[in-house]
Amino acid sequence: MSTILKGIAASSGIAIGKAYRLVEPDLSFSKTAISNAEDEISRFHSAINTAKADLEVIREKALAGLGEDKAAIFDAHLLVLSDPELLSSIEDKIKMDMTNSESALKETTDTFVSIFEEMDNEYMKERAADIKDVSKRVLAHLLGVKIPNPGLIAEEVVIIAVDLTPSDTAQLNKEFVKGFTTDIGGRTSHSAIMARSMEIPAVVGTKSASRSIENGDTVIVDGLRGEVHINPTPEIINKYEDDLKNFELQKAEWALLKDEATITSDGKHVELAANIGSSQDVDNVLANGGEGVGLYRTEFLYMERNQLPTEDEQFQAYKAVLEKMEEKPVVVRTLDIGGDKQLPYLNLPEEMNPFLGFRAIRLCLEEQEIFRTQLRALLRASVYGNLKIMFPMIATLDEFRAAKELLMEERQALLGSGVSVADEIELGIMVEIPSTAVLADQFAKEVDFFSIGTNDLIQYTMAADRMNERVSYLYQPYNPAILRLVKMVIDAAHKEGKWTGMCGEMAGDEIAIPILLGLGLDEFSMSASSILKARSLIKKLDQNEMKQLAEDALLKQTTNEVIDLVKDNVM
Ligand code: PEP
Ligand code: MG
Repeated sequence: MSTILKGIAASSGIAIGKAYRLVEPDLSFSKTAISNAEDEISRFHSAINTAKADLEVIREKALAGLGEDKAAIFDAHLLVLSDPELLSSIEDKIKMDMTNSESALKETTDTFVSIFEEMDNEYMKERAADIKDVSKRVLAHLLGVKIPNPGLIAEEVVIIAVDLTPSDTAQLNKEFVKGFTTDIGGRTSHSAIMARSMEIPAVVGTKSASRSIENGDTVIVDGLRGEVHINPTPEIINKYEDDLKNFELQKAEWALLKDEATITSDGKHVELAANIGSSQDVDNVLANGGEGVGLYRTEFLYMERNQLPTEDEQFQAYKAVLEKMEEKPVVVRTLDIGGDKQLPYLNLPEEMNPFLGFRAIRLCLEEQEIFRTQLRALLRASVYGNLKIMFPMIATLDEFRAAKELLMEERQALLGSGVSVADEIELGIMVEIPSTAVLADQFAKEVDFFSIGTNDLIQYTMAADRMNERVSYLYQPYNPAILRLVKMVIDAAHKEGKWTGMCGEMAGDEIAIPILLGLGLDEFSMSASSILKARSLIKKLDQNEMKQLAEDALLKQTTNEVIDLVKDNVM
């Protein structure tokens, strides 16, 4: 029977495919007595051998597709499976306790893990994580339970998950993964943002996809309407195949605007830039006619690895982006770790409210060596293009001044040792905390530009977690309260002769764009895949008319009134 789940449209497009569940399997078991230790040990060895065979294949795939770095993780896992001390401890336990391999494996590996985790040694802590991973894999084989191996997907699938972390998302192979759907998450959770930049259709926050969909079910992910169809009828599939064709035709029409400037019908030019997470994303920016990079989320350079990137690795990454973008502006945001983006190797204590916690600039001002290394890499790269730097999560002027001072110190030190640095590097901040929006007039005297981070600004203003689908009704980009804050920021910048961009997802939203244009936003930075659609819309709009529309919107009382206003006047 065909079923429909409602969720949040997180990445546009339509995907039709077989379900692949990326869900933690049930590895529960009971401890039971055995009668023949030799037989049990040979059962244990056969599970080890199957796990080894899996890992060999995954390792080869990782080496071919993702490089030496990623493959090394699986080498470490293979080493655990050949560790004589670990294996003989498990065998001894089977013999001594005369209990099943599952319990001998679990109890022994738990002991190893807790010893390693307590050591004050990064290397041993990583080994503890390897043992945990590997023991799950062996346990699954003992129990005859299938564990998902996303690295081994070799047919077109739709991923079903409770949640996907940004690093899970980064590992999805676009060739085979046609779409995904999750139980939790919102439109601005980072996995949704990445889905948009990878152009993978996605619906998040369905609450129950992982419980309602089995491996192999036929699934349609409708990333335009926020719906997931499970085992749809042939009529529904036909309809979606038509929608998919129309979507492709629409995209082909937008593609004609790739090399055009973004100019309103009455001649006002605005800049359409892209948000990127790595230097590889730049090709997509240029292919979609991006006029610059408005946000380079550098934290992805720090994720999916076991230690901090060196100054030189960072320098190479920043240089590559600047060179590929030629002289087009590139706004690099310094490290914004925390919230839903974690670096396990920093071993930071868990927090009750990570989005309100030790995040971004707060961490960088305390862990100064991490920050200074990044600043040096950026300054060294500055001579290769049109670099602008901005700091994330600035809440007070003191934070901005402290961060700027560190940048200036590193600049002086580099110049002192004969390293070239660009003469002019614009220095800005993200406005994503209400206190900064409210005091924008004071900030505008000290910064070169603002970039409004609405993904966070909305969650902090409305006190509605951007990741929590249960409060997503309060996550309201068009709420007049948000619009008034945006206006305050733009006006404050213009009064001081500075410019304001927006790099939150709102900048690419078709209801928001006419209002933002009317408010005088100078730069719109969005997922590369949204640029051409936005250009097509802006070219049809008259900026003077949008000024009036924006004034009217600011006086509305509710989000829905604002949506109706835009729909009645623009669409
Ligand atoms: C934002 O908060 O709007 C933003 C662009 O930053 P991030 O989504 O990375 O938090
Ligand atoms: Mg943010």
